[in-house]
Amino acid sequence: MRLSEAGELGLLAELERRGLARRIEDDAAQLGGGLVVTQDALIEDVHFRLAWTSYRELGFRAAAVNLSDLAASGAEPEALLVTLGAPAETELDDVLELYEGLNEPGVPVVGGDTTGAQLLTLSVTALGRSERVPGRSGARPGDALVVTGPLGAAGAAFRQERHARPPVRLEEGRRLAAVAHAMLDISDGLAVDAGHLAARSGCKVEIELERVLLAEGATVEDLGFGEDYELLAATPDALGFAEIGRCAEGSGVEIRLRGEPVALTGWEHFGGGRGAGDLR
Ligand SMILES: [Mg+2]
Repeated sequence: MRLSEAGELGLLAELERRGLARRIEDDAAQLGGGLVVTQDALIEDVHFRLAWTSYRELGFRAAAVNLSDLAASGAEPEALLVTLGAPAETELDDVLELYEGLNEPGVPVVGGDTTGAQLLTLSVTALGRSERVPGRSGARPGDALVVTGPLGAAGAAFRQERHARPPVRLEEGRRLAAVAHAMLDISDGLAVDAGHLAARSGCKVEIELERVLLAEGATVEDLGFGEDYELLAATPDALGFAEIGRCAEGSGVEIRLRGEPVALTGWEHFGGGRGAGDLR
């Protein structure tokens, strides 16, 4: 079976089933002493196009998407490790700009690796500490479903052939982590990520789309694009964050717009691109 047939979730399920990867359901790995670690790669022409971004913005993005997983873990970040693969003809000044962007969120780069590569590839490991990681499996019927900001910016930007700047919700993540039963960041699309939460928690997630604040220029269709990097939490206390739905008895994700059911597509990593996975 090819990866395009198995899909990312199929691959992960098989790795778990065979004991080749453990405890991989959450946004970051939890180690002893409150240490949380996450790693995310950005590959040219898969996750970004150089024509659509500056090196500095790309560096910021690589740091931000990793810090987003620490935010979803309620963590205080401590350090980044960066592996850069770049074609030999890449300008030194461009690489320095990239590292300026990596340092922009204020978390130090303390190591990593550099290597030649045919395409620009960036792999970042982010390390932090958390007193309480909500994880994805604790949502309960009756919990409010909240998000930390407007959605759809990444999809709207993509339609205009540019990349949106991801938010860094570390402070919000720590506040929510103190009370939330489950939390993750929205990287694959609202419906897909809500589905992860529902599946791991064994409950149903109900979303009222009219309550979702759309980013400037975004439409409901852009919610399926993902890469918004806002946090999605199931919590008994909304803490003033926008409530877009709730958890209920049952399974799966039910999305309604003014009472009518709708289907949102989402990102499938091995499915050939955006919108390849139909969730209905
Ligand atoms: Mg994540």
